[in-house]
Amino acid sequence: MIRDDCLEADRNDPLAAHRQQFVLPDDVLYLDGNSLGALPRATAAAVTRVIEQEWGARLIRAWNDAGWMDAPRRVGAKIAKLIGALPHEVLCADSTSINLFKVLATALRLQAERPQVSMRERRVILSERSNFPTDLYITQGLADWLGGRYEIRLVEFSEIAAAIDDSVAVVVLTHVNYRTGAKHSLTPVTYRAQEAGSLMIWDLAHSAGAVPVDLNAARADFAVGCGYKYLNGGPGAPAFLYVADRHQKAMVELRFVQPLSGWMGHRAPFDFASTYEPARDIDRYGVGTPSILALAALECGVDTLLAAGMEAVRAKSVRLTELFLRLVEERCASHGLDLVTPRDASYRGSQVCLAHEHAWPVMQALIARGLIGDFRESREGPGILRFGFAPLYLRFVDVWDAVEALRDVLSTRAWDKPEFQQRKRVT
Ligand SMILES: *Cc1c(COP(=O)(O)O)cnc(C)c1O
Repeated sequence: MIRDDCLEADRNDPLAAHRQQFVLPDDVLYLDGNSLGALPRATAAAVTRVIEQEWGARLIRAWNDAGWMDAPRRVGAKIAKLIGALPHEVLCADSTSINLFKVLATALRLQAERPQVSMRERRVILSERSNFPTDLYITQGLADWLGGRYEIRLVEFSEIAAAIDDSVAVVVLTHVNYRTGAKHSLTPVTYRAQEAGSLMIWDLAHSAGAVPVDLNAARADFAVGCGYKYLNGGPGAPAFLYVADRHQKAMVELRFVQPLSGWMGHRAPFDFASTYEPARDIDRYGVGTPSILALAALECGVDTLLAAGMEAVRAKSVRLTELFLRLVEERCASHGLDLVTPRDASYRGSQVCLAHEHAWPVMQALIARGLIGDFRESREGPGILRFGFAPLYLRFVDVWDAVEALRDVLSTRAWDKPEFQQRKRVT
């Protein structure tokens, strides 16, 4: 394989034209779209329009005239198409952390209200030890707040299915692991949880916009996800949450609310009633006033994926990660890299992670020469070089050039300089 083969692959790539939709600096190879998606070309104009023509010209009237009030549902309905949900099952709001709090509280309450088949009380919240920290912290915070009623059980990735039994109230998992790129089988795990009488919450932070997800086909209960990674919504973009239609109905029937009962989740916020009465639909997951500027940016990001379609995105993602792995195996052998991500594409998301004894300075040296990936600490062993592959704007030739940069940095020990040792606040 030579560089020309990659250029040829780009010429035949059905998604090649989509790269034009993004602003990308010429001197950068961007393999970090899993951490912060690139800037869509449409975003600046869309946000400027909201600022000048809506906020500036219409002032407060824009809440009604410019569709501001509908934005969390409108953008939610667009994300629903990417994750196999119905339009009224998804809302854009808050951050992933806050959304997880809301759906976890709902799931625990729903479980407590259900007639239980077994006499055993369900006191366990099951998750994965290597889950993203905020998911574990939110779970710990809520469990602690509930006064020790729940026990958190953490197991390894491969032990999940075996750990689900009739003591488990809720299973909280991230579909694609942020540090390894390993992907759970969403439908079988959901099925396994439900068969045991548990409720299942999926965090789709590294899936939405990266791998096709069909929540309805899996009969998924709850999900949350992130707007600023593969959805290209911009730094700190609003997150989203999914609540299956049947659970929304159950909440109405059983008359309970999610605990962050802010006025945006009220049935009629502008009645200014003194008593909280929840909206009867997914709007009840709203809390405070939505960020309209941020939603305008997120909508542009989501539109870039809708234009391409998730099947095409996944097909290219698999080709990009396969190419990267093959080139690393061919050209970077004997440089002390260990593959952390599953070699079989059906078990990984859209990122590849390589452990290396000097991962931090190696990544700093790569960034200094324009190849942007990132670094993640590892509990067990050496640190991890993480490379994300966003198929809408990454070319096959970029993969070639990235592996060349990696090979060069490793073989010349270009990383072994004092300036690459200094840790930064954000890695
Ligand atoms: C990125 C990420 C988050 C981010 O949470 P925020 O509250 O938006 O900061 C949460 N969960 C997972 C699995 C992530 O990868």
